Amino acid sequence: MVRLDGAGTPEATWRTWEAPSAWPDFGFGAPGRVVVVAPHPDDETFGVGGLLHDLRVAGWHVEIVAVTDGEGSHPGSRTVSPAALVGRRAAEREGALGHLGLDTAPVHRLGLPDAQVTAHEDALTELLGGLLPGTDLCLTTWAHDGHADHEATGRATARAAAGVEVLMVSFPIWMWDWATPEDPRVPWARARRVTLSPAACTAKRAAAQMFLSQTQPLEAGRGDATIVPPGMLAHLTRAWETLLT
Ligand SMILES: [Zn+2]
Repeated sequence: MVRLDGAGTPEATWRTWEAPSAWPDFGFGAPGRVVVVAPHPDDETFGVGGLLHDLRVAGWHVEIVAVTDGEGSHPGSRTVSPAALVGRRAAEREGALGHLGLDTAPVHRLGLPDAQVTAHEDALTELLGGLLPGTDLCLTTWAHDGHADHEATGRATARAAAGVEVLMVSFPIWMWDWATPEDPRVPWARARRVTLSPAACTAKRAAAQMFLSQTQPLEAGRGDATIVPPGMLAHLTRAWETLLT
């Protein structure tokens, strides 16, 4: 497992890399039902929030599957309990979805334990098998993203989607921190570019500001450090998003 502290490859380095501007667009086809499987409350927004905004405008029906409630983000906190984080993070997601025009999008909360999705991968696969039928496109975290929950969710979703013959596409989150341009660990040939509308860019940036429990220290001291620091936010609020087919 790589170190995930947001102090990895700076956005300025990614910006100098010209390859992404030549990545093919992802063809979305006629509007249908899109389901995003998010390990934590915020992955749907940081990964594909702009895309979801634009798909909804285009007439797609958007649903979110929340694998965990994100109660494990501050295990050493002396100020915020896991139970308090559940409510706080759900409210942050609600605010973010509102900015994205998705305030009426169903959110299916599965309640699996945060930071332990790997141990519940089979259960997740089964739960998704009941939720995915009738879906035209399923989006989830990349199975090699470098974060155990993201990887387990990516694997389980792939199995479930294959079982019900639903098209599944991944999106990277932490990869932008640990990888570098042309990094051989990343299947760049499978990368697809999603150019966001100006409205989607604005909405996504506003939505990203909702996740204060992750983007700001809860309170000074051990265990309350920032989870998603400014360097990561810069990767995740570009005017385009990335899918891996
Ligand atoms: Zn996450």
